[in-house]
Amino acid sequence: MEYQDKTLNCIECGGTFTFTATQQQYHQEKGYTSEPKRCPPCRAARKSAMPATTRVAGPGPAGSGGGPRGDRSSFEAVCAECGQKASVPFRPNPDRPVYCDQCFRKHRQGRPGGSRHG
Ligand SMILES: [Zn+2]
Ligand SMILES: [Zn+2]
Repeated sequence: MEYQDKTLNCIECGGTFTFTATQQQYHQEKGYTSEPKRCPPCRAARKSAMPATTRVAGPGPAGSGGGPRGDRSSFEAVCAECGQKASVPFRPNPDRPVYCDQCFRKHRQGRPGGSRHG
């Protein structure tokens, strides 16, 4: 029996890929009866991905374009301690120093808790 190249649709990316005669023969030898449902790149991606994921492959949100950028109201500031960029959930006050998350914790922990009469 001779095989012929087939063009199949990938259920993952929706693209088309060629199910070559050689691959068909290989499938036949392996005893596979169903045709591949995914293109080679998608299959490779699935292989490399973690098997135990509970991702729901539903229809995507309407409208295409636009990355998954979080549009939270955070302000960019420079940490007064380490000089790194820090995003704070409030508008940074120029009169007060702004700390990044790390330095902020440090300062909180370093604070003396009790009050004493000196
Ligand atoms: Zn694909
Ligand atoms: Zn810092």
